[in-house]
Amino acid sequence: MHVTAIIAAGGRGHRFGGALPKQLLMVAGRAVLERSVAAFASHAAIAEVVVALPPELAANPPVYLRERARSDKPVRIVAGGARRQDSVANAFQTVGADTDVVVIHDAARPFATADLISRTIAAAAESGAAIAAVQSRDTVKLAGATGQGASDEARLPFVLGTLPRDTIYLAQTPQAFRRGVLRDALALADSAGTATDEASLAERAGHPVRLVAGELSNIKITTPDDLAMAEAIARGARAPEERGRSGGGFRVGTGYDLHCLVEGRPLILGGVTIPFARGLAGHSDGDAVCHAITDAILGAAAAGNIGTHFSDSDPQWKGASSLDLLRHAAAVVRERGFDVANVDASVVAERPKLSPHIDAMCAAVADAIGVGAAQVSIKGRTNEGVDAVGRGDAIAVHAVALLGPLRD
Ligand code: MG
Repeated sequence: MHVTAIIAAGGRGHRFGGALPKQLLMVAGRAVLERSVAAFASHAAIAEVVVALPPELAANPPVYLRERARSDKPVRIVAGGARRQDSVANAFQTVGADTDVVVIHDAARPFATADLISRTIAAAAESGAAIAAVQSRDTVKLAGATGQGASDEARLPFVLGTLPRDTIYLAQTPQAFRRGVLRDALALADSAGTATDEASLAERAGHPVRLVAGELSNIKITTPDDLAMAEAIARGARAPEERGRSGGGFRVGTGYDLHCLVEGRPLILGGVTIPFARGLAGHSDGDAVCHAITDAILGAAAAGNIGTHFSDSDPQWKGASSLDLLRHAAAVVRERGFDVANVDASVVAERPKLSPHIDAMCAAVADAIGVGAAQVSIKGRTNEGVDAVGRGDAIAVHAVALLGPLRD
């Protein structure tokens, strides 16, 4: 069965306020969007992922999505539309005829578990359409006319009736559909006004929609209060034994790398391609900044070095960006109970001048490690004309990383 995931991230989060779209906000060190995409991209049953972003973001996607676009499991980025159903329709247009089931998910729900995704896909494969939903635990009142009093309290509406709670389910995502069912549903999208989910379109198209058990932790981040709850869920998800593995202390590691400058290669440092006549030689992209920082992070956790984790002969890393190695190293130390507290690197290069690129390098490295940009420092300097680095034949990088216990 070929399953395609669509991540609906086209909204601008008007209800949230603030300058950043809500899907780019950080929760416990990782963007909400990155968490949501990762849940589906890492799911064994899902073959490909399509992410619908606001057009300005689709034109300049975050680094973690650009990197995923080059990985084994394709992550395609499409521009979203004015309404949610337009974004999903744009994404659906790129879904091939070989897809059996499409599973749709809100980017603003970063905590969907692999089990929940599996249940929803399985139910849709069997019944045509299925959505995650949780039964209401509160008594549900149907509201009527608004009171006319002067105070806010008095303007609350009156109760018209009490609905039987056991028939009330609160819809979440994922929502999954056989391809033909979703096609019928989206055909109604133009005439349907604004639909808050795809299931309501499928219902209108006459398809039965099955409920599968959702999860209370699968919250949708809509307001600043939700963000605080998301932080608590993300930190609570780290088991105490995982947090304890670091021994509670701080650890420091160093890293060093040197690559020769050669003709015919792009110069990539800290994940940023820098205009220059020559680039760094090497099996990979030759990104000595990422390599030195990767070694520093692994070294701090006594978790080996770049050679032990990323063999030249392993096809998994063939053509990988060195930012992927860095991201993997950060994941390795997190599994051992550490968070990266900060990294600092000195790049020794006679030419080119690095200062115009430092901010972009710090941002890309911070993004890969999953920390804030303020936790990453990269500095350029020359070797005063001394030795091969000073002659401009090579670039060397020294790095240190400090790891602390996983925050909770
Ligand atoms: Mg290297």
